[in-house]
Amino acid sequence: MASLHDLNADLHAHSTVSDGTLDPATLVRRAAEKRIDLFALTDHDELGGLEVAIDAAARIGLRFVPGVEVSVTYAEQTVHIVGLGIDPASEVLRNGLADVRSGRMRRAQEMGAALAAIGIEGALDGALAYAGNVNLISRTHFARWLVNTGHCDDVREVFSKYLVAGKPGYVPHRWARLADAVSWIKTAGGVAVIAHPGRYRFSETEAWALLSEFKETGGTGIEVATSNHTADQVKRFAKIAREFDFEASRGSDFHDPAESHAELGRVCHLPDSLVPVWHRFV
Ligand code: AMP
Ligand code: MN
Ligand code: MN
Ligand code: MN
Repeated sequence: MASLHDLNADLHAHSTVSDGTLDPATLVRRAAEKRIDLFALTDHDELGGLEVAIDAAARIGLRFVPGVEVSVTYAEQTVHIVGLGIDPASEVLRNGLADVRSGRMRRAQEMGAALAAIGIEGALDGALAYAGNVNLISRTHFARWLVNTGHCDDVREVFSKYLVAGKPGYVPHRWARLADAVSWIKTAGGVAVIAHPGRYRFSETEAWALLSEFKETGGTGIEVATSNHTADQVKRFAKIAREFDFEASRGSDFHDPAESHAELGRVCHLPDSLVPVWHRFV
């Protein structure tokens, strides 16, 4: 068997249960086709795809880790915390996530109104038509509708023009507290991992506070290998993982075959000096 580091582990991906475009069973089959050795489904704020995914993975003999990606607000920014190895039946986690999800429709209505105010009518209904799960209506669904109605060329352009802070379709939202998200994940028997750390725009002080607080509240890992990290960012977050004694994770953050930065499993390997978080799952 390949060494732990060489294992093709992809521990971050989305299905139609959140803002991915492949249903859980199709996603699991694609993971196997892409020669992934260990795979986690990590839908945003939702566990609804896990049962089907566990089943599909068992049927084709793919090693599977039940996961989730929890939306958190920290220092006025959105931070994503991935939970790996969680029990999908955990009441504490389920209740916590239900609470996190509860504001999504309201935010979506406000986004629809904000876009209407700049002359883009019908965005909410448009976005809802792209949502596999209306409780998980997301900016990504608005983005897909805006692309397919010709407002932008691709999803990335929609975000930078309309859907990020300071742009006309952006509606600020308060998600879970960091300590709560970590605690739900741990109570559900899982480990908490900071997702795509290169995406956040914190000052050095804020970033240090996030990492320390995450560590103190029982956080375990950080994604070092993720599809939107440059080679420099991989080095930077590897160093941080060593400094904070975090285990390291690897994930594509796959959403869709055409839209995503990376195909399932196509992310760089972890630097040798790090402890892969998946030592717990093999
Ligand atoms: P939401 O949870 O509704 O705020 O949506 C967040 C999702 O939007 C993320 O999980 C990504 O899938 C997507 N997203 C965020 N920023 C960008 C971006 N700059 N380009 C493309 N997709 C993005
Ligand atoms: Mn997403
Ligand atoms: Mn994310
Ligand atoms: Mn994600």
